[in-house]
Amino acid sequence: MMLEAMKKIEQKKQVCFKDTSRQRFREKQIQKDLYDSRVVCEQLDLSKGIESNELWEPYSKSNEYKEIPPEETEAKCNLVEHILSVDNQKELSKITEYLRKEHFYCLWCGFSYSSFEELSTQCPGDTDEDH
Ligand SMILES: [Zn+2]
Repeated sequence: MMLEAMKKIEQKKQVCFKDTSRQRFREKQIQKDLYDSRVVCEQLDLSKGIESNELWEPYSKSNEYKEIPPEETEAKCNLVEHILSVDNQKELSKITEYLRKEHFYCLWCGFSYSSFEELSTQCPGDTDEDH
């Protein structure tokens, strides 16, 4: 009886752990995508003569990509983490949309199409899951 209950708790713990690590992986992915798209966006904008853009300018050069060490993430309140990742997600979709409309660039295809039509027909979608 006791053993059964303990087994159940152990199983539950494992499920919880899996969920958190999957979510953490997802958040890291978003952080990385966001960083990559800012870098690309800056390059594409500059090549078009656009020298200022709120999507990348505040993060340019002086702000290098820093990965949050695992201890720090651990210590953070879940809610804060959640808000952060929601913000990152919003920011990522904003920059993704801009890159697609302005430069016909897809972050996950990894290149610029020659027209918006080409992008719409050849790129599978505007999220990493579509790729
Ligand atoms: Zn694509």
